[in-house]
Amino acid sequence: MIPYGRQDIDENDVAAVVAVLRSDFLTQGPAVQDFEKVIAEYVGAPHCCAVSNATAALHLAYLALGLGPGDVLWTVPNTFLATANAALYCGAEVDFVDTDPRSYNLSVEALSRKLDQAEKTGRLPAIVAPVHFAGQSCDMRGVHALAQRYGFKVVEDASHAIGADYLGGKVGDCRYSDMCVFSFHPVKIVTTGEGGVVTTRDPEAAATLFQLRSHGMTRDSSRMEGESEGPWYYQQTMLGMNYRITDIQAALGASQMRRIDLFVARRRALAARYDDLLGNLPLTRPWQDLDGRSAFHLYPIHVDSQQRRRIFDALRAAGIGVNVHYIPVHTQPYYRQRGFEPGYCPNAEAYYAGAISLPLFSAMTDAEQDEVVEAVRAAVMDARSA
Ligand SMILES: *Cc1c(COP(=O)(O)O)cnc(C)c1O
Repeated sequence: MIPYGRQDIDENDVAAVVAVLRSDFLTQGPAVQDFEKVIAEYVGAPHCCAVSNATAALHLAYLALGLGPGDVLWTVPNTFLATANAALYCGAEVDFVDTDPRSYNLSVEALSRKLDQAEKTGRLPAIVAPVHFAGQSCDMRGVHALAQRYGFKVVEDASHAIGADYLGGKVGDCRYSDMCVFSFHPVKIVTTGEGGVVTTRDPEAAATLFQLRSHGMTRDSSRMEGESEGPWYYQQTMLGMNYRITDIQAALGASQMRRIDLFVARRRALAARYDDLLGNLPLTRPWQDLDGRSAFHLYPIHVDSQQRRRIFDALRAAGIGVNVHYIPVHTQPYYRQRGFEPGYCPNAEAYYAGAISLPLFSAMTDAEQDEVVEAVRAAVMDARSA
């Protein structure tokens, strides 16, 4: 089976992990700060807080921006569950904005219309969380302009998008947002096994993230109430979690980041090859917005929804590990119990009905890709004549 995504680990990565295992610190040592520095410098944000996974990163980002009971967070349905769930962890409500039919990302027009309505009913969101689907940035300039006008915060879920470019910078530099989250799960572009980070330009928000990561504790006397009682002293001034990442994971991440440009270049080359080789088939290839350049976590094709099941099954039977991203979050039973119904976000639902993610990972060979292309050609033609 050719998987839809897979990690790319080399001997330097192995050596970096082994070096931590032989060192004094498995957690709370120097590797975490090194990793944070590597990410911050790469994306061009002054602050980075590394945590146990991107779900935890989303939770902390939302908490650090003050999300709580009585607030609403808006995101898109075309995402992994975590983007929405993390708002519920904060005691807030979640609502969904439909996607753009071409980019499959948040539709700024839909957001604008929904904000106009929400202003009238006094239910403006505290945070909007756009998702850079498949590795392509949303129209962040458009989101930012609306954030200025309506006064909400912006958290980018860039779990798919480390290495992506947008308007002359890297996704993660937070030029158009308050915070940005990346995931380092093994199917993503860079891995730490499990891991995530939050980047931000705001030093105060960053200090809050670091504190929330570790129980709400601080050893910094400038963040304490009253005086420090001595070198042993710490204070808890807020309710935090234990969302720490280990030095083992962080060392793997820093080592992987040495190859980020190679990973992204290979993914882009494979995507361009898919574009060429699938060009004359009856399917929709991913669209590239010229404001940026996708990092291609995924290569999502879209087929006739009546034929999707048939094509998907044929590909799996041919040993091609295709997948589907994403089942619209608002159609999940848990979200239906909270009052959402199918039909609420028609573009995201129509996208889901025909979506298939083809295998794409940096270690994929041209020969493997050719095998995928031939299987897609056969499956699509066969479904058409059926
Ligand atoms: C993978 C992913 C997450 C969650 O990441 P974890 O590191 O597994 O917690 C969140 N949002 C999106 C869009 C993702 O793809």
